[in-house]
Amino acid sequence: MTSVVTRIPPSPTGRFHIGTARTALFNYLFARHAGGTIVFRSEDTDRTRSAKEHEDEIVAGLAWLGISWDSFSRQSEHTERYRELLEKIVGEGKAYISKEPGKEDPSTTVEVVRLRNPGTDITFTDLIRGDITFNTAELGDFVIARSMNDALYHFAVVADDMDSGVTHVIRGEDHISNTPRQILIQQALGAPRPAYAHLPLILDEKRAKLSKRSGTATSVVDYQDEGILPEALVNYLALLGWNPGDNREYFSLEELVEAFTLEKVQKSGAAWSREKLLSVNQHWMRALSDSDFLAHVRDIVSPSSNDGLTMSINSETLKKAVPMLKERAHTFSEAREMLSGELSCLFSVPEIDPSQLVKKELPDTPDMTKTALESLLEALKALPEGLSPEAVKEALMPLADAAEAKGKGGRGALLWPLRYALSGADRSPDPFTLVSILGVAESVSRVQKAIAILRG
Ligand code: GLU
Repeated sequence: MTSVVTRIPPSPTGRFHIGTARTALFNYLFARHAGGTIVFRSEDTDRTRSAKEHEDEIVAGLAWLGISWDSFSRQSEHTERYRELLEKIVGEGKAYISKEPGKEDPSTTVEVVRLRNPGTDITFTDLIRGDITFNTAELGDFVIARSMNDALYHFAVVADDMDSGVTHVIRGEDHISNTPRQILIQQALGAPRPAYAHLPLILDEKRAKLSKRSGTATSVVDYQDEGILPEALVNYLALLGWNPGDNREYFSLEELVEAFTLEKVQKSGAAWSREKLLSVNQHWMRALSDSDFLAHVRDIVSPSSNDGLTMSINSETLKKAVPMLKERAHTFSEAREMLSGELSCLFSVPEIDPSQLVKKELPDTPDMTKTALESLLEALKALPEGLSPEAVKEALMPLADAAEAKGKGGRGALLWPLRYALSGADRSPDPFTLVSILGVAESVSRVQKAIAILRG
């Protein structure tokens, strides 16, 4: 049996699209699962739209995702070979040179190469969709090269697939209608027919074709910038059109290689779900060691930002905040927003608004709040450093319970002013977590400051 060869043939005409990434991933998984090889081919025949910067972005993005290949080439480097093959089939009468008026300037004459199309029905077996038949008569003798030195896209694809020994063409459903033309070119070249598998379209959350206009980010770099992990994007992209046949949701790249088969690829469109992407990302964020997690947080906090975060990014406090970030954040940019928003009190002493300190809806007065904070202060001073949030809770909760028993505004009469004194914010983590992360000394100093404010 010949071994499997798949291909990753992106057109470097724009940003690295997530659809391109998904197709590349499926080619990678299929080949590696079968112990085969992968050819990377930059399809840069469209000279006006192709750009090196796009190719670089695609190559870097694939490397980031962990998708590798065994050989690399560019179509622009194959012009000689295309010419040789064109001459061969023209010599054999399977294609011919046609002198015709130029498309752009009809007063000139051009010599295009047309395929002599037998006009038969073409049936191919798609590994996902089954048999597909096209009538090719209506294609006529279509143009395969603008000149002997300028092969068109379909000819280049077929010539390259033949020369690379590609056994499986796995690509987006939008290429189905290209397949009969390509099979006709194969027949002219005497090339073997690879197996075809056309992947379902990726649909947005409204079930329209995924596009930037629909509000979904479509470039891999957007997700990279947002702080989505490559492990997560690979895991998520694999589930866009493929399923493992059981309830498993989380797969490393190696596990995907192990589990992937084309039989489990669906025919119908694969709906994008941001919610699912975020939950997969959270899974992989939580799987990181604390120090790797911190390295990602540091990466996303730009050194030029002046919100104070950059200064504190190496602090012990940040290390202590990691479990909370792992609990709450779905992306690293969300973690960053938390650090500069509701968690900023961890890195700078908050401003205290005395009217906020006394929670309005509680039957409370500044005096009662002051007394509550004073009793908490004593309890806080007695705590050792380095306690977990649970241990802090165990130590302080009895005070709140006692306040509740005495009917002095319930637990909130103690816990609200404590949380506010520590955070200076309406929204913040619970006071026990704050004490645990800030440390006893800093917490004592903040509570003392709040008491002083209440004393006026
Ligand atoms: N270059 C094409 C694209 O990026 C892929 C062509 C193919 O897979 O045959 O859509």
